Amino acid sequence: MKIEQNKVVQIEYTLKDHQGEVMDASEGEPLAYLHGHHNLISGLENALEGKAVGDKFTVTVPAAEAYGEIDPSLIQQVPGDLFEGVETLEVGMRFEAHAEHGVESVVIAAIEGDLVTVNANHPLAGHDLTFDVEVIGIRDAAEEEIEHGHAHGIGGHQH
Ligand code: ZN
Repeated sequence: MKIEQNKVVQIEYTLKDHQGEVMDASEGEPLAYLHGHHNLISGLENALEGKAVGDKFTVTVPAAEAYGEIDPSLIQQVPGDLFEGVETLEVGMRFEAHAEHGVESVVIAAIEGDLVTVNANHPLAGHDLTFDVEVIGIRDAAEEEIEHGHAHGIGGHQH
């Protein structure tokens, strides 16, 4: 069986940035996804097309096909008193911010006096990503999975 539209695929993966630093890994708990439904970033999903169980490969996905380039408009300076109640504000701290289109996650990028620079880009934006992938399993999706647009069961959505 080959990976194609509407197959549920289980993969083991290790994600590294362009410096070879491991940023994420399945570590013995394979990820299950529904192929052809944009469950994965497009560069990775495209590389999986046509693969079979046991196939191992490495793919480097440019930032634009992964989490996008860094959007400078998502980096803003805000007054430090927005963080009233936070005992010690530090670079690298992550907060949930309420924005026009819902909740977004921001990270403190810099602190200069009373001004705090917050960055709402995805943590992996601007990164070319390298995935080491092994295909562990392939099966036909259930109708319900196709309806939902994602895989169920181990490694997939639990509901
Ligand atoms: Zn579902």
